[in-house]
Amino acid sequence: MGVEPTIESYGMRIGGADVLHDKYLDTVNPYTGQTWARVPDGDASHVDAAVKAARDAFETEPWSMMTATQRGHLLRKLGDIVARDAEAFARMETADNGKLYREMLGQWRYLPEYFYYFAGMADKLAGSVLASDRQNFHLYTRQEPVGVVGAITAWNSPGMLLIMKLAAGLAAGCTFVVKPSEYTPISTIELAKRADEAGFPPGVFNVVTGGGVVGAALVNHPGIDKIAFTGGTETGKRIAASAAANLTRVSLELGGKSPNIVFEDADLDVAVNGAIAGIFGASGQSCSAGSRLLLQDSIHDRFLEKLIQQTRTIRLGDPMDAETQMGPIANEPQYRKVLSSIEMAKHEGARLVEGGEAVTDIGSYFVKPTIFTDVTNDMRIAQEEVFGPILSVIRFKTEEEAVAIANDTRFGLAAAVWTKNVHRAHRVSAKLRAGTVWINAYRVVSYMAPFGGFGESGLGRENGPDAMREFTETKTVFVELSGQPRDPFKLG
Ligand code: NDP
Repeated sequence: MGVEPTIESYGMRIGGADVLHDKYLDTVNPYTGQTWARVPDGDASHVDAAVKAARDAFETEPWSMMTATQRGHLLRKLGDIVARDAEAFARMETADNGKLYREMLGQWRYLPEYFYYFAGMADKLAGSVLASDRQNFHLYTRQEPVGVVGAITAWNSPGMLLIMKLAAGLAAGCTFVVKPSEYTPISTIELAKRADEAGFPPGVFNVVTGGGVVGAALVNHPGIDKIAFTGGTETGKRIAASAAANLTRVSLELGGKSPNIVFEDADLDVAVNGAIAGIFGASGQSCSAGSRLLLQDSIHDRFLEKLIQQTRTIRLGDPMDAETQMGPIANEPQYRKVLSSIEMAKHEGARLVEGGEAVTDIGSYFVKPTIFTDVTNDMRIAQEEVFGPILSVIRFKTEEEAVAIANDTRFGLAAAVWTKNVHRAHRVSAKLRAGTVWINAYRVVSYMAPFGGFGESGLGRENGPDAMREFTETKTVFVELSGQPRDPFKLG
């Protein structure tokens, strides 16, 4: 007889306290298929309470009077606590979304750097003194926190997607109400508890869990000054439309159909490795997945052969096992979507050369790494985000054709160029309509590097020097110097 797994129950975090509710949501481990934790299925009343807590914290002491340097100290402390607890966070993420434990551990060991980087930036954020064309006026600007931020995050890397928003926003002086994905809420709740431990005042970082109503209640709430969202493009559009009613600021980090372009002069073995990382890393559940592989005609067949060979060696299995290279799809709806995308591609006439089916004997929600060739860029499999381990291979002849195919998409999140020709590398990078371009690499991110999309891949940028601008408003101050009355009926 099997032992019943222990199911942990969590509360939401509102105003620094655990908040329970009589309705609960199960959170299921996608590898075992078993419920391992429960969170409250919150509603609009919880959003109200959390927004009030965040507003109170924003407007009152100690947060409102804290210096930027003091905020930096708190962020550094939170970074230290996350570093201390990286293994525990990695374990809960793997239990929640099925990503490889070693990838999650690497991620959580890296995430403290976001706190340290933005801690350092907190007291470097300054307005400027401007030259003034108005006589007797001193003119300067201030960068002030935008206010209460509603953050809605996705299930593929819940901690990282949140910290990309949180570190910059807290450094700027904002307060937060976070709505994690209903599939992966645990690390967000635990992070909010660690923020209390670090000494953030109650109400600065609130978490409302739930599914179906919480997101919309947050976006429509008049007490929210800005929404920061990561997730699917269609949801992002709905959020932007709802936010427009209150002119709530919005930043969106959405989907992609990123081109991974291999030229005939590339190091093919290295590029094969990059193609694998691009689409089969994290089982393809990455917004910047290299889901369109563009191969130059002259190396198409040779490259494909190497790619298929290497793909066949990918080990699927328990994401906690250090030998596993690909874990399950993160949740049931996504698993179904991936399988139906495979059928769609077949139906459209793409040629299946590898994978193309579920694997049912090792755990829940496994899909074989899948490669389609003879894909044309007008097919839905080349235009729609799958968010799974499905690669579309597209053939091109010339550099111009490669650029045209790469840019023939509504998305523009990322792209990669594989070539040893330095002129071509930079020439093509400049022509690609994408927020990030990798040259001879794939799937590299940094807290120092701005991240975001062109086109329908989003609005705004996270990470890097400009990220705090997303969480601030610019205020202009005119200071009259003469003390004399001015003509009240004349502008300026
Ligand atoms: P979504 O990207 O659609 O986002 C779901 C989240 O958005 C939930 O937290 C939900 O909250 C909230 N939400 C939904 N509708 C609204 C609304 N009208 N107003 C405010 N909030 C809203 O995630 P899915 O899991 O449904 O994934 C769908 C597709 O998105 C995937 O197949 C994949 O292609 C893509 N995706 C992209 C990601 C990326 O990183 N770019 C990450 C994850 C998914 P509530 O439940 O309360 O409504």
